Amino acid sequence: RREIQKLTTGSKNLDGLLGGGLETQAITEFFGEFGSGKTQIMHQLAVNATMPKEKGGFDADVLIIDTENTFRPERIVQMARAKDLDSDNVLRRIHVARAYNSHHQILLAEKALEMAKEFPIRLLIVDSLTSHFRSEYMGRGSLAERQQLLNRHMHDLLKFGTINNAVIAVTNQVSARPDVFFGDPMAPIGGNIVGHTATFRIYLRKAKGGKRIARLIDSPHLPEGETVIQVTEDGITD
Ligand code: ADP
Ligand code: MG
Repeated sequence: RREIQKLTTGSKNLDGLLGGGLETQAITEFFGEFGSGKTQIMHQLAVNATMPKEKGGFDADVLIIDTENTFRPERIVQMARAKDLDSDNVLRRIHVARAYNSHHQILLAEKALEMAKEFPIRLLIVDSLTSHFRSEYMGRGSLAERQQLLNRHMHDLLKFGTINNAVIAVTNQVSARPDVFFGDPMAPIGGNIVGHTATFRIYLRKAKGGKRIARLIDSPHLPEGETVIQVTEDGITD
């Protein structure tokens, strides 16, 4: 088993909450309402993974499985420039695969293992993990099947992380009302399955002035806590 490494989020506050950054060989789930900054954080992580090690990066390639068509290369360019990186070089290292439905998404995660033999992928992003599953498996009757598929998909992701000593970052959109989903196993989109397979779970909510509050939830070996981050033109900062 290779040594676990940590990828910076760009925010010292958030890195601190996570004990230094996102861990390899684990799944980190960012969940929160629409506009809470999940996709912005995914873009920042992608840029950061390409950075040299002395800057908190992995000097590595990235694979993004994009299910909502929200990947924006222009945003990568902005964030790369803010860190004095060659934006063309950063873009070359970020591989984007659009997933058209949940079946396709599962297939892409399996194919990622093959891709990693060709490219040094150390960060795998699924943004969003749950949107296709949510829209395709709606009724109560299909819930068990959805959970089973999602569970298997997450184990594929974790396997990728273990084999490649990679960070796995996923997003999950939830209701704006925490009272609706905390304590209710069905209410978070992924339900219990996502909660139990994800090693780190970060709940994001909007605060005043473009700020976001990030809260670490039921982590196995880190204390629960909250911190403030910002989504700016330059990317994710304190
Ligand atoms: P989610 O994926 O959680 O639905 P996003 O990550 O797409 O949310 O966040 C969108 C928000 O990010 C916008 O409402 C805005 O506040 C912020 N944002 C996006 N792009 C920029 C930018 N270039 N400069 C500053 N803030 C931005
Ligand atoms: Mg998004």
